[in-house]
Amino acid sequence: MERIDTDILIAGGGIAGLLASAVLAEIGFDVICADPVPPVTDGAAAGADTRSTAFLMPSVQLLERAGLWPRLAAHAAPLRIMRIVDASAAEGALETADFVSDDIDQPAFAYNLPNWLIRREVLAHLQTRANAQLLAPCRVEGMLARSSGAIVTLSGNRQLRAPLVIAADGRNSPLRKAAGIAAKKWSYGQKALVFVVHHPDLPHENVSTEVHKSGGPFTLVPLPDAHQSAVVWMATGPEIAALNTLDDAAFAQAATARSAHVLGALTLVAGRATWPIIAQQAARLDGPRLALLAEAAHVIPPIGAQGLNMSLADLAALAGLLAEARNAGQDIGAPALLARYSRARLPDMAARIAGVDALNRASMASAAPLHGLRRQGLKLLHGVKPLRKAAMFAGLGAGARQAP
Ligand SMILES: Cc1cc2nc3c(=O)[nH]c(=O)nc-3n(C[C@H](O)[C@H](O)[C@H](O)COP(=O)(O)OP(=O)(O)OC[C@H]3O[C@@H](n4cnc5c(N)ncnc54)[C@H](O)[C@@H]3O)c2cc1C
Repeated sequence: MERIDTDILIAGGGIAGLLASAVLAEIGFDVICADPVPPVTDGAAAGADTRSTAFLMPSVQLLERAGLWPRLAAHAAPLRIMRIVDASAAEGALETADFVSDDIDQPAFAYNLPNWLIRREVLAHLQTRANAQLLAPCRVEGMLARSSGAIVTLSGNRQLRAPLVIAADGRNSPLRKAAGIAAKKWSYGQKALVFVVHHPDLPHENVSTEVHKSGGPFTLVPLPDAHQSAVVWMATGPEIAALNTLDDAAFAQAATARSAHVLGALTLVAGRATWPIIAQQAARLDGPRLALLAEAAHVIPPIGAQGLNMSLADLAALAGLLAEARNAGQDIGAPALLARYSRARLPDMAARIAGVDALNRASMASAAPLHGLRRQGLKLLHGVKPLRKAAMFAGLGAGARQAP
């Protein structure tokens, strides 16, 4: 049996696990990341993740510190304006609120990149680091926590020892389950369709637009090509099933209508992947020699670009504590340290989950009083500069009225 020693084992090489590998290697830890599925780094290949991620400013700052940002920035579309459009009025009138990055003295409030491209660039970065390694295909089959460290069984007859294991193994996290950490899960009866559109009539002008009507938001997020945007269309399960029966031309027409024509006629470039919409919240983020990260700890509906950004807030907190412990000559997998990590993240995690949950429920509602409430919230948020700034920083869109 092959035996490996390292400082940190990261189970899961999704975007969160890969970014965690880069950030923790940058501060000097020896990191091994294991995933049973090798990352797909070509957008046109089968299995490619066609979603995109808008990195909010705190995430950009973390990636800058890790030396990753120059690579990613070269492929990112800056988002200058966050536009919320309420298209729910029966007479078809649109109510619009713009949140401009000038309000927070930044050239952009976020930067958007396709997920497959993030994987490609982070992998290329990891290959330049002697202290970071991706093992794929390689499954984490189990771990045994001892006072001296964790003993991890990997597929391929390999065993690994490390003082700390990070579970970035996704929403069904086998390591979270094995550690007996409870997770509360709820569903909204919604699904999301993810695809890329071409809009030849109008450029996006670096404006990210969320169109609310009923059933959930329809969000257009700029890509580097001025006439292409990534779309997340949330609606009820039966509505998404019906949309999936349409051919590309009919689907593009339906998307154009649902977008309230904000970018003119839309044509389909790529995608139509369907994602279930759920929320999930782990009761704690620590276990013996184990720290939960990203979707292993929390899942939320894709509104306001919160999912991976919340994961990077987890990572920033964990990296800070680990660096502090290492510099003090302490055990990086000690129970007290991991409990501090959990305590530090739980309040922010709960607030963001509650904020996105409230916005999603308001956006789903087809009842007139809730529409009115949504419009009032939009006016309040937009009219008051400090609230507007908070919204830009949090990237929560209309839901940020819950956040301050
Ligand atoms: C439609 C949609 C749009 C989104 N848009 C945004 C956005 O704009 N901004 C944002 O911040 N977030 C967004 N999100 C959220 C974001 O995409 C996710 O938070 C992120 O991709 C999840 O990453 P992850 O690495 O935690 O999980 P995953 O990508 O699920 O990765 C988990 C990995 O663990 C591996 N694994 C499983 N079991 C094992 C095992 N036993 N051993 C080793 N590895 C294992 C899996 O193979 C997988 O590769 C969106 C989500 C959706 C659904």
